[in-house]
Amino acid sequence: MALYVNAEAQQNAKPQDTETWTPVPAKVNVGKAHAMVAPPSDAVILFNGKGLDEWVSNADRNKPADWKVDGDALVVNKQAGNIETKRMFGSYQLHLEWKIPANITGEGQARGNSGVFLASLGKGDPGYELQIVDSYDNKTYVNGMAGSIYKQFAPLVNPSREPGQWQTYDVIWNAPEFEESGTVKRPATVTVIWNGVIVQNNTTLMGPTQYIGKPSYSVKHGKAPIKLQAHGDKSEPISFRNIWIREL
Ligand code: MG
Repeated sequence: MALYVNAEAQQNAKPQDTETWTPVPAKVNVGKAHAMVAPPSDAVILFNGKGLDEWVSNADRNKPADWKVDGDALVVNKQAGNIETKRMFGSYQLHLEWKIPANITGEGQARGNSGVFLASLGKGDPGYELQIVDSYDNKTYVNGMAGSIYKQFAPLVNPSREPGQWQTYDVIWNAPEFEESGTVKRPATVTVIWNGVIVQNNTTLMGPTQYIGKPSYSVKHGKAPIKLQAHGDKSEPISFRNIWIREL
């Protein structure tokens, strides 16, 4: 009987059920963007403006990533869909920079939405999303703003720069570990430093990102690609640059 009730509850679940709107993280002023910092010598360079050799299409890993390289930046091509790394990663330190275009339009989740899936698990189970969306002066649910682990944890504070400015994410990702049986042995944890400010402090994830319903570790997995999101909203595409990783 309990199972029946649970199934019914899942069927009636709405996206809004897992949105959190308060408390709103306090704004922190971090000033203008700094010059791009060179990667450490032992990093694997995932993108530095010299092509997309490290990336493939998420829809078909046999196809190249069809996003636009513009100088040292990588511009999202929404028509081409999500892209992901050729390489698979377990735990790592990741640096990337992203920019909401100065002429951004739209509101809420439809204003510069993208994201970094810290481990991408494929169709139907997208992985673990560290959200990107304009959060300078744009109201949305706080567990869906930039710096959030989407639909799970809001950032501790909001050190957002204005559109047109480069912003940095430095991420320390400890991949989840599973028992042979598939049950979770050690959940994923993540630390995120956004524009030099800590916004996720060794946060324990509830499972892969769920748009509707409660997340849980339903899929046992090992190493996985990292995925960048081509979100389906109508706003102007965002850019990335200086993406590098160090495996732990
Ligand atoms: Mg997103």
